This record gives sequence, C-alpha cells and structure tokens, in this order.
Amino acid sequence: MDNVMLEKYARLLVKVGVSLEQDQKLIINSPLECAFFARLIAEIAYKEGAKDVIMNWNDMPSTRIRLLHAPEKTLEDVPVWRRDMLISLAKEGAAVISISADDPELMSDVNPDRMAIFYKTLGVALKEYRERMMNNQNKWCVASIPTEAWARKVFPGVTTEVAMAKLWEAILKSVRVDKEDPVKEWEQHVANLKKSTAYLNEKGFKHIHLKNSLGTDVVIELPEKHLWVGGSDLTPEGVEFVANMPTEEVFTMPKKSGVNGKVVSSLPLNYNGSLIENFSLTFKDGKVVEYTAEKGIEFLKEMITIDEAAAYLGEIALVPYDSPISNMNILFYNTLFDENASCHVAIGNAYPPCLKGGEHMSREELDANGANNSMTHVDFMIGTKDMQITGVTADGNEVIIMKDGNFTF
Ligand code: ZN
Ligand code: ZN
Repeated sequence: MDNVMLEKYARLLVKVGVSLEQDQKLIINSPLECAFFARLIAEIAYKEGAKDVIMNWNDMPSTRIRLLHAPEKTLEDVPVWRRDMLISLAKEGAAVISISADDPELMSDVNPDRMAIFYKTLGVALKEYRERMMNNQNKWCVASIPTEAWARKVFPGVTTEVAMAKLWEAILKSVRVDKEDPVKEWEQHVANLKKSTAYLNEKGFKHIHLKNSLGTDVVIELPEKHLWVGGSDLTPEGVEFVANMPTEEVFTMPKKSGVNGKVVSSLPLNYNGSLIENFSLTFKDGKVVEYTAEKGIEFLKEMITIDEAAAYLGEIALVPYDSPISNMNILFYNTLFDENASCHVAIGNAYPPCLKGGEHMSREELDANGANNSMTHVDFMIGTKDMQITGVTADGNEVIIMKDGNFTF
C-alpha cells in the first residue's frame, strides 16, 4: 500500500475519527499484525499534539491458544491491571482508536462454552470502560485495515497478495480515502446522514414495521424519547467525533419490551471469530423465544444467553440498499463493513444517546425509558433489496420510510 494513502487514512482517523485535541492521550487497540499502521497513527497523533500514545496490542491467535488449552477455571480471570489501565486512561480523557481486523474463522474450533466464559468475564471486568464509550464520555473510533487471513476469506481463489490489494482498495474506498480531500468528504457525508436522522426524529414514530421476502416480519416499538442518530457523536463537552469508519447507518434504540415478530439474517455474522449463517430470531414482548441457524447455532445460543438482556434488542439501524458499501457487493465477514451495507439490528446493550437526554440518565431512568442494559452488543444484518419499512406515528398515521430497500424521503 502506498505511503501517501496510508498517511491520509491515519490522519483521517486522528483528525476526524477521534478529533484528537492538544495534550490529549490516545489509546490504540491494535492486532499485532497491524502494528505498522498503529505506529503510523501514533506518529501522526504526536505531530497533532498528543500528550502520549498508549499501544494496547492484541493477538487473536494467542487468545485462541489460551481458549483451546488453558485450564477452564483460569478463563474466569481478567487481571485487575487490564481494567485499571483502560479505566484510568479513560478517566483522564484519553481518546481510543481500535483496529478491527479479525480472521473470521479463527475461532471455529474453540469450544463455545469456553468462549462464553472468556467473553462474559471480559464483559464484566470492562463494564465501566464500555459504558463510558457507549455514552460518548470518551471519543472513540473503530476502523480496519486488511490482514492476510481475513483478505483470503473475503477474496478466495486469488493469491494472498491480490486479496490484500483488493481488500485495501475496498476499505480505502469505503472510508473515502480514495478521494482528494477525505476530511471534506466526511463533513458532507455526516451532514447527509444528519438530514436522514432529522427527518425520522421529526416524525417521532411510535413503532416501525419491517418486512421482506426473506422472512423478516417484525414490529419494533420505539421509546417515547427515542432519538435517531448517525454520522457523528458529541462528547459531553460538545466535541464531535466519528465512532465508526466507515459508517452509513442511522440508528436508534427499540423499546426493550416492544419487539414482536421475526428477523431473518441476510448476511453471515462473524461473532468473535466464528461464523453464524442463515439464522433467525423470533421475539415476543421484546425477548427471543425461538432461534434457528443453518450454521453456528451453538455460537448463536452463546450470543443471546451471555446475560439475561442479551435476548433483547438494543439497536435498530437503517441503511439504504443503494448505498456506497452495499454497492460494492462484497461480503466482508466483518461487521464494521457488513452492517454499513445493510439494515441491521443488535442484540444487547442500547446506546443511551439514542434517548433524548439519555447520556445524563441514571440506570434506573434508562430502564424506565425502555433502554436495554447488557454486557454485550452484537449487530447483525437483515437488510435486503426488497425491505419495506412502515412507520406509525403517535396519532396512527402510516408512513412508508423504506420501499424496495431504499429510503422514500
Ligand atoms: Zn449499527
Ligand atoms: Zn451496533
């Protein structure tokens, strides 16, 4: 990959992704395989005024070795220093850039029960840290660069070198780094997403009904105070940042107890390195009462039972079928990209900023307003080119929001 493009990308993440400020600390969560890019981000961050850049390396192949061979009891251990490091930096106001680049099938031979123990323990240990991010108290940005195993999965039948080049091209295009001035492109893009959220917020739908020929037929009630958000977020101090690069979605939270019907997946889901394919979830009064999957049902079960609230939804997101990532027609096996190519929902925790004033609400107030509270949050794709979505307003008016996969407004 040519250096000019790499630098442009790294700069975009620092300037627009986390809007790094003078004397701010920056945490970079990066796979070892992506170290060269993490170092480039660090260099740019220092030049842009970072006080310190803290590398938090991860290595999924090492995690796999532990999950396969460590005594089961020890999977319940998360060293206190891991939590303390992240929490203390977060409290100092550090910004966080995370590079997501997993091999989609790395964990397929790991026992799902052992994986559940591991992720549950991690979820509990990092609860406070995660809550700060979901509440926009710290600026954070998730982005990707290709890794070899991932590229081979996305582009089978070509050499690793060709697959890497193709995945680089797709990623850089998706984050608009192929354009002359990506920072400017992002300003325009965020403004467009804000137009969609403004329209939906003005309607103030009581519930929305999603239906397609794949079998999705679900009514999702929205909390009275719900807010559609998208594009960028604001910290309590009013600093704008972009939490996902790319992002094409507008989203809000369902009312926890107000989901009824069935959703059918339209793309495979990479769940922590295991694939779940052709699956469905059926909800009654918000809760999953039935689930099916052609592949990976044991992982699906783990996903919706990791805690009690994992069987409820925390997000509903709309993405037009005719949109930039969708039009690439690439199955990325990475949710950051696939969720931005398709309408989707997420099981688990709801983002408090999806309620008016939600970022200032106590847990009790969030619960009372219908926000789901879980240690997990997993998006999965349900959008198709024949998706039809109807919104029903408080006074009973029906408005078609999406027809044949695209917005009507
Ligand atoms: Zn989403
Ligand atoms: Zn989500």
